[in-house]
Amino acid sequence: MSGDFSVTFWGVRGTIPTTQTRNARYGGNTSCVEMRCGDQRLIFDAGTGLYPLGEDESLTDMDMFLSHTHIDHILGFPFFSPAYREGTAIRLWAGHLKPEGLNLRDVLSRIMSPPIFPLTLDFLKADLSFHDFSAGETVQAPHLAAAGITITTLPLHHPDCATGYRVQFGTKSACYITDIEHTRNGLNEALIGFVQDADLLIYDSTFDDKDFDRFIGWGHSTWQQAMRIANAANVKSLALFHHDPARTDNELDARLQALRTHRPHDHVAHEGLILTL
Ligand SMILES: [Zn+2]
Ligand SMILES: [Zn+2]
Repeated sequence: MSGDFSVTFWGVRGTIPTTQTRNARYGGNTSCVEMRCGDQRLIFDAGTGLYPLGEDESLTDMDMFLSHTHIDHILGFPFFSPAYREGTAIRLWAGHLKPEGLNLRDVLSRIMSPPIFPLTLDFLKADLSFHDFSAGETVQAPHLAAAGITITTLPLHHPDCATGYRVQFGTKSACYITDIEHTRNGLNEALIGFVQDADLLIYDSTFDDKDFDRFIGWGHSTWQQAMRIANAANVKSLALFHHDPARTDNELDARLQALRTHRPHDHVAHEGLILTL
């Protein structure tokens, strides 16, 4: 195991991509985060942030981990240039389908089929492999183990289920936790154990506590809950993520200011943010 551990945010929005001047600074692309562990490239979710990432021609070998397959998390996949290039290897992983008797290839085939999309998965020139597992298992990937990377997973409370990931590389760890709904009564002990002592926690901060009651059942959490989890789990740095498409830049600036009065080293994720652990 050698090299740096860095995290790049390519898409930070939830629900639907949104491009308006009022939110251009934080960015309107949906969920896509890249973690580089040495020379291994791990991509979390295939929202529309995957499209700008796909312009990188050096991206020829990767693992793509999906939190789940709601449209905002897979919409970038049919438009991902590396998938159309020969000599590219893409290993796709999902932990929320197998328990339901579904598989990832079939689900992606649904969006890549006429008349929704003109091409099918068979048209793609890259070497694609599909790996379904059950959220809660450790990812079984010998090439990642050989590179010193361990990825553990956790089922998340969300409509149609979702998977949370924890990536351990050397002494550093980063957790990707979206989309998740919390309950008002107490903290989720399984989640706190899962993210304990992480260097970075990326967390679904769609809502604000003051609005949360109106959105029970929507499958998301709040930025204040992110803070409570991070504090309880001794997380070093928190990145608020999966912003509501209606949140303006000014509102997210205010959220950052409020967050940093409590936790000065935390972030409100924006497109182009790179964190080195
Ligand atoms: Zn989402
Ligand atoms: Zn979702």
